[in-house]
Amino acid sequence: MQDFVYQTAPMRVVFGTGTLRQLPEELARLGVSRALVLSTPRQKALVADIREMISARFAGVFDGAVMHTPVEVTERAMETVRDVRADCVIAVGGGSTTGLGKAIALRTDLPQVVLPTTYAGSEMTPVVGQTSGGIKTTQSSPKILPEVVIYDVDLTMTIPPGLSATSGINAIAHAVEALYARERNPVISLMAQEGIGTLARALPGIRAQPDDKIARNDALYGAWLCGICLGAVSMALHHKLCHTLGGLFNLPHAETHTVILPYALAYNAPATPDAVARLATALGVSDPVLGLHELARRLGTPRSLREIGMPERGIDQAAELAVKNPYWNPRPIEQDAIRDLIARAWRGEAPQTAIG
Ligand code: NAD
Repeated sequence: MQDFVYQTAPMRVVFGTGTLRQLPEELARLGVSRALVLSTPRQKALVADIREMISARFAGVFDGAVMHTPVEVTERAMETVRDVRADCVIAVGGGSTTGLGKAIALRTDLPQVVLPTTYAGSEMTPVVGQTSGGIKTTQSSPKILPEVVIYDVDLTMTIPPGLSATSGINAIAHAVEALYARERNPVISLMAQEGIGTLARALPGIRAQPDDKIARNDALYGAWLCGICLGAVSMALHHKLCHTLGGLFNLPHAETHTVILPYALAYNAPATPDAVARLATALGVSDPVLGLHELARRLGTPRSLREIGMPERGIDQAAELAVKNPYWNPRPIEQDAIRDLIARAWRGEAPQTAIG
């Protein structure tokens, strides 16, 4: 085992079914009395329930959260923060809503309560990616880390089957990269293995029966573990590539992660035998590259960049940009091999695996 440093995040997590009911108690614990509720426009009904539940502690709502945390949207939300004299934010939604809450906390250090409704995992990280003039910049600060996260399985029952699958694989991707991260450590590796295995078993159950409460419970538990991995260690090729492709071609977040994951793992596998062994155990397969490709097939998710809107002429541009800013990866980043990876992923061909 290599030497390691392990640090836990100062955060309170409440997990279960019907845990939304504990929100008033959690606000009281924080000592806050003027909560601004954040959501996307689609989650208005849930906001109405929360308003009723927290009654006197409800200060207002901003339901304009969108993907990639554009600064114009944050500035509009900041006006509401000031208008209603909020002393905390409640973000109810997926990564987009959580991102808005984090952007507000970065500017104000207001405490955040997050109620995640997807498997994206942003609630577990001290990181926010903000977009200005079409460029997304990532920032990290202790102010960004939410104070309280309430996981309520009931809030995830409505995630459409397609988003459940891609959001779940997005979570798996965090844990896959944690297994070979430069700062990997035995505790995070345990969480990664458990998170991957739990999600990989739960997602086909959700696909078959979206209201399967046990599968939904397992998926949310797995997503939490994978989110911890994302917040604890640095990500590498897979996340950098998804960031580059998403930014260049405005591709949907979870779908991009879903398509790229088996290809990124195929690239890194020869340099990370320990991670491959743990993944094989977690997935119950001999070759996790093919195992992840097969999982996506079973879940009926998009399996090519072409399907999710990337133009073919973008392959060279993406390969050039992906190698431009150096970062740590278990295998050195080689432009020709990265171009080949992107081209294969664009066509949706089986990833080239050297395992076996
Ligand atoms: P999202 O938050 O944009 O949600 C996608 C859509 O699904 C939205 O329209 C939303 O209203 C809807 N939705 C959410 N929950 C639902 C539910 N339970 N039932 C029905 N519909 C629901 O998507 P996401 O994939 O959760 O988050 C993506 C964003 O999060 C990206 O901007 C990404 O960069 C960011 N992210 C950040 C981090 C981080 O650590 N900073 C980590 C992961 C993701």
